Amino acid sequence: MTERTPTIETRSFETQIQQLLDLMAHSLYSNKDIFIRELISNSSDAIDKIRFLSLTKKELLEDDSRFEIKISLDKDAKIFIISDNGIGMNHEEIIQNIGTIASSGSKDFIQAMSQDQAKNLSLIGQFGVGFYSVFMVSKKVTLFSRKAGEKEAWKWESTGKGSYTIEPAEKKNRGTEVILHLNEEGEEFLENWKVRSVIRKFSDYVSYPILMPKTDNRSEEEKKKEPEKKSTEYEVVNTGQPLWIRPKKEITDDMYDEFYKQISHDFEKPLTKVHFSQEGVIAFNSILFIPTKAPLDFFHHHESKGVNLYVKRVFIMDSCKELMPAYLRFVRGMVDTEDLPLNISREILQQNKTVEKIRKALVKKVLDVLTELSSKEPDRYHAFWKEFGMALKEGVYLDQENRDKLIALLRFYSSASQDEKSWVSLKTYCSRMKDGQKEIYYLPGETREEIEASPHLEIFRKNQMEVLYLTDPVDEWMFSVIPEYEGKKVVSAGRGELDLGDLDKEAREKAKEDEKKLKGIEDLFRKILQDEIKSVRTTTRLVDSPCCLVSDEGEMSAHMERILKASKQMDFRSKRILEINPNHALIQHLQSMTEKGIKEEDLQDWISVLYDQALLAEGSKIKDPKSYNTRMNKILLKAIG
Ligand code: ADP
Repeated sequence: MTERTPTIETRSFETQIQQLLDLMAHSLYSNKDIFIRELISNSSDAIDKIRFLSLTKKELLEDDSRFEIKISLDKDAKIFIISDNGIGMNHEEIIQNIGTIASSGSKDFIQAMSQDQAKNLSLIGQFGVGFYSVFMVSKKVTLFSRKAGEKEAWKWESTGKGSYTIEPAEKKNRGTEVILHLNEEGEEFLENWKVRSVIRKFSDYVSYPILMPKTDNRSEEEKKKEPEKKSTEYEVVNTGQPLWIRPKKEITDDMYDEFYKQISHDFEKPLTKVHFSQEGVIAFNSILFIPTKAPLDFFHHHESKGVNLYVKRVFIMDSCKELMPAYLRFVRGMVDTEDLPLNISREILQQNKTVEKIRKALVKKVLDVLTELSSKEPDRYHAFWKEFGMALKEGVYLDQENRDKLIALLRFYSSASQDEKSWVSLKTYCSRMKDGQKEIYYLPGETREEIEASPHLEIFRKNQMEVLYLTDPVDEWMFSVIPEYEGKKVVSAGRGELDLGDLDKEAREKAKEDEKKLKGIEDLFRKILQDEIKSVRTTTRLVDSPCCLVSDEGEMSAHMERILKASKQMDFRSKRILEINPNHALIQHLQSMTEKGIKEEDLQDWISVLYDQALLAEGSKIKDPKSYNTRMNKILLKAIG
């Protein structure tokens, strides 16, 4: 809704922003001071941008080449002011950036907000809605901004309740000034020492000077004489040296954590980090972090904050996609190199050999860190796996060069693991294979419960053989590139003819014999179900069930077909093979009925019901539930005479 007067426009916030503002006021209550970090990091980002642009367009600086962030406080008027000489914003950018939520995941975000404060806090960071945190401490916020290279300046103002105004304004210098009219909650931020301590805690490594009025060093007596003397002199209050160029031994864990929070906008500590440098032909310095939690929309979204690129300490760009493959998009951090030109563009980055080499080194490092974590701290590794495991599975498929390392990082549920603590790797699986077992078995399905109900597991359960449970939609797709592991074939327990080697040799021989005896009933199955199935055969796979359906060698599983259908990628049902259990009383009874010459129509109900049951057991829908019930009732009525 826009109401235009010649000068002042009043606009409504997006509904979601209003919801967000309301929620934030409640959930972030005990972390009010983060608004300072958010404002400083916005200013620092804005200076990064103008600094980079000015490398090729010096005129944008307009003779003001000191980059700085200034904070002033006015106790009487109860206002907090932060200003920067960064890139600034024009009319459209103000409306776009401060009035709409950029992230497409905003709906998920609002929905996920709950009573759980800690959770909300981490969510807010992930969605980059930092600016709005000012409304936790302000009753009104005024922002002045002028974009570098443009003449018009703009004033934006809001009380955070439904709408904001925007109008032309005067502003001499480029950049942005934000004026917070503090509410009662925010009054503590009128204290110079308090603001300094927050800056030291959150923003000490910001690479530009943060200036604040000099503290009042006069004696108590002098202060008594002239209590309200305001200082007009400013001093730098942050250390200002980028973290990564300090000697490593001087950097504490807390310093790394704060640096991470600053660059990632995450509110939680990272799960782990690595700080390393490479010398030689290509030299670089890098700090990489693995977050603790995946953003809500992580798996739907292929964008991320990623890794920032610096050249000779000058910020070049954030989320440099060329530095990390898409499957490692959860990694945050920075790389600083001397070996790229300062004026490098996104287009050049894509084909640049140096960038490619740096990426290789970064990927190797990340995988090494994860490998180490998995062996030394399995619990923490499992916490990682729970959040980002699916991304590594994408890696197995896509990154041939690192496939072996990635395969070693895979974890699964299995028939022998009850919970996340006992997730298994392929290595562990192999180490406890039964004597005589030659293959690695898996079974796909929607949930653990669905897989456990499958008749395909019966023989494995009987022989106490472990089967991996594939419950992620990407699992089967991933296994298509892992035909073998440590020389053992990786096979689906629900596909092709089962061959457990020596373990079921006798049973298989017996089943072959039985096949001859069961020819009558097999033929009948074939005839009645000819439109539904590919073929019929006896099996050693079953213990308790009379029959089941299996996919033919090389064909998709029923589970995969259901996934593709649900995601509307394909609606196709391949014909499956019906396997019958020669030892089951029902099958034997049906055979004797055929031998006795009982009419085909009388056997039709039995055969159709058994087929439908096999469909239900694999988690598929039956074609015609009504006729299933009718047939079933007919059989039951016969049974009670
Ligand atoms: P985030 O910083 O995570 O993107 P914010 O809500 O803090 O989210 O800011 C939204 C956007 O507004 C920023 O991405 C930036 O484009 C713009 N912005 C905020 N503050 C400034 C500033 N001081 N100078 C220039 N642009 C700014």
